[in-house]
Amino acid sequence: MKVKVVSRILEANERIAEENRRLFKRHGLFVVNLMSAPGAGKTSILERTIERLKGIRIGVIEGDIAGTDDAERISRLNVPVVQINTGGACHLDANMINEVLPEMPFNEIDVLIIENVGNLVCPAEFNVGEDIKVMLLSVTEGHDKPLKYPLMFRESKALLINKIDLLPYIDVDINKIKKDALSINPAISIFEVSCKTGEGIEGWAQWLRGQR
Ligand code: MG
Ligand code: ZN
Repeated sequence: MKVKVVSRILEANERIAEENRRLFKRHGLFVVNLMSAPGAGKTSILERTIERLKGIRIGVIEGDIAGTDDAERISRLNVPVVQINTGGACHLDANMINEVLPEMPFNEIDVLIIENVGNLVCPAEFNVGEDIKVMLLSVTEGHDKPLKYPLMFRESKALLINKIDLLPYIDVDINKIKKDALSINPAISIFEVSCKTGEGIEGWAQWLRGQR
């Protein structure tokens, strides 16, 4: 019985995601769904990416359970940003995105980046109408995450391994992260980055430019 309820929720979500997708297409928007656990650095990577992609007009939707800190950080970079507070829900779904789309000035942006709620599990289950999903994993989360949370790695077109500046101080096997991620998703593009030092950001930004 429970399985049936869940699959109906996902079917309803898929219909609205398709509606969003048509709208994005009509406006020529490239849409990225950015996912990670809390604290991996989604907002920081967004800041670095926006700085690098001068010439491409970016808009951001910030998903958080509560608060507006991340939207305030992004708005300092003078890009359009809309904050969604889910009020408890641990992921964004297509309907939440659909409801705020009227607030996004489509004619002033080329790329829309949706920062999902920090969570390694269900954000990967809910399409919101994006072109690609991208995930971020901090090295401080440990090297066991791909095998424990395979869906997000399977669904993502790119994996950004963040905070590599901390590698000398922690016992984490970054090669295992990469090997396991590739065993789950052989097509995933992997970038080692540090939002703090800026290492690797250029390669990721170039890749994103190419995807569009
Ligand atoms: Mg954030
Ligand atoms: Zn959730």
